Amino acid sequence: MTESSVIAQADLMCTNCAGQCEYSPRTGALTCKSCATEHVITINPNADPEAEHHYDPDLPHTEQPKFTQDRPYQCETCGGEVIFQGHSISENCPYCNGSLVERPNGESYVTLGMIPFSVGNEQAQDAAHNWVSRRWAAPSDLQSVVSGSNVSGIYVPFWTFDSKEAVNYTVNYKVTRGKKTVMRTDSGFMKTEFDDLLMPASPHVTPLIRDGILHEFEPSNLRPFEPAYLAGFAAERHHQPVREGLRQNAKDKALLLRNRIKKHSGKNSVVDVSYLTDTTGIKYRRILLPVWILHYEYNGTPMKVVTCGLQGRTFGERPFSSVKLLALAALASCAVAAFGFVWGAYNIY
Ligand SMILES: [Zn+2]
Ligand SMILES: [Zn+2]
Repeated sequence: MTESSVIAQADLMCTNCAGQCEYSPRTGALTCKSCATEHVITINPNADPEAEHHYDPDLPHTEQPKFTQDRPYQCETCGGEVIFQGHSISENCPYCNGSLVERPNGESYVTLGMIPFSVGNEQAQDAAHNWVSRRWAAPSDLQSVVSGSNVSGIYVPFWTFDSKEAVNYTVNYKVTRGKKTVMRTDSGFMKTEFDDLLMPASPHVTPLIRDGILHEFEPSNLRPFEPAYLAGFAAERHHQPVREGLRQNAKDKALLLRNRIKKHSGKNSVVDVSYLTDTTGIKYRRILLPVWILHYEYNGTPMKVVTCGLQGRTFGERPFSSVKLLALAALASCAVAAFGFVWGAYNIY
C-alpha cells in the first residue's frame, strides 16, 4: 500500500507553494490552505458518471468490497504513518494535516460516480444550529447543549437501482353491502418500472440521512469520481457488493410495488396484496453523496442533526420538554373545551 498510484496525495498539493489543498464547496475548486491559490479540478471528459451499469442476476458475481482491513501508508510530505481504517477512503495525515485519498482501483469500483459538496462548512453549521433553535416544545437548555458542537462533512456511499417489473397480482378487498361487509378477491397484471431507487451502502447511513438526501438527489448532477473532491472530507466506500445492495433494496421495492398494485387494482379498501413479479433490466450506479452531520448528546442519548451537502436541507433528532408538552396538551384541551362550549351554544339555538 505504498504505491502512489493507490493514494492521491501529490496531486492534492499546491503547485504554487507545495502547501496542502482542500476541496472548497464554495468555489468548487481545490484551494491551498497556505497561499489560498485555487486550482480548477479537471475531470475525465470521456467519463459518463450518469451512465447506469447493467446487472445480470443470472450471472455468477464474485465482486467483493476491497480494502476492509487497516492499510498503513507513509505520508509523502512528512514521512509520518497514516492508517486508512476499515471502509475509509479519505484521511488527513495526523502529523502534517495533508489530505490523502484512496483511488478506487480494482473492478469493484470502476463504476463509481459522485456529487461533490455545494454546501460549505459555515452554511451547514448555521443550518444545523438554526434547525435546533426552531424546534417547538424543546427543553430550554437544548440550544446551549448543542452550541459547542460542530458539523463534520462526509461522503456517504449509495446505490441507485432501476428495474422493469411484470407483475401478476391478487388483491383481497372489502365491499360494503347494506349493513354487511364482505371480502372479495380480484387479480390482474401490470407492467411498471423503477428509476433511481436510492439505497444506502453503509450501515452508518440511517433512514434519517437517506430520507433527507432523497429530496435533493438529482442524477444529472453526478460527476466521475475524482480524489480532489474528497480532499479535507471523510469518505466511506461501499460496504457490500451490488448483489447484496439489491437484496437490501428488495424490501423498499416490495413496499412500493404493493402501493402500485393497490392503485392499479382500482379497488378501495384493499386489505391484502400478493404478487409474483418478473424483474428484468436491472441497472445500477455506485455513488458517493455529501452530508454534514452534527453529533450531540442530550441526557446521555446520542442524537444527530444532518444537513444535506447538495442544497442544505436540514433534519434531525431532538428531545422534547415534558413540561412544555404538558402545557401544550393543557392548552389544546382548553381549546377543545372552548370550541365545545361555542358549538354547544349554537346547538341550543
Ligand atoms: Zn499554495
Ligand atoms: Zn504528513
